[in-house]
Amino acid sequence: MHDGAVDGTDLAETGAQAMSEWWARLRRPLDTDPRGVGCEAALGVVHVYVDLLSVGIDAPTRYPGAAEHYVACDSCSQILQGIVSAVRDRAVSSPEF
Ligand SMILES: [Zn+2]
Repeated sequence: MHDGAVDGTDLAETGAQAMSEWWARLRRPLDTDPRGVGCEAALGVVHVYVDLLSVGIDAPTRYPGAAEHYVACDSCSQILQGIVSAVRDRAVSSPEF
């Protein structure tokens, strides 16, 4: 059998294809649903999301689906802003916390 080189080429092409499918799968939730995740999922991480924001961590990068949803969904956006201002008030009134 002398088809090693041919197999190598096939493998490389298959690998590149698998890689682009992997990316497509990663991006699919955001591409197909402009609201990202659902309300339930978005509100499930809202406290973690605000905690990350309050310590200066880029929460939208950690939770891109939730970030999209907070932008697209008015009720979740209001809940998020309510928690953000509550956390801000707490931080102002007890800075050592
Ligand atoms: Zn929502």
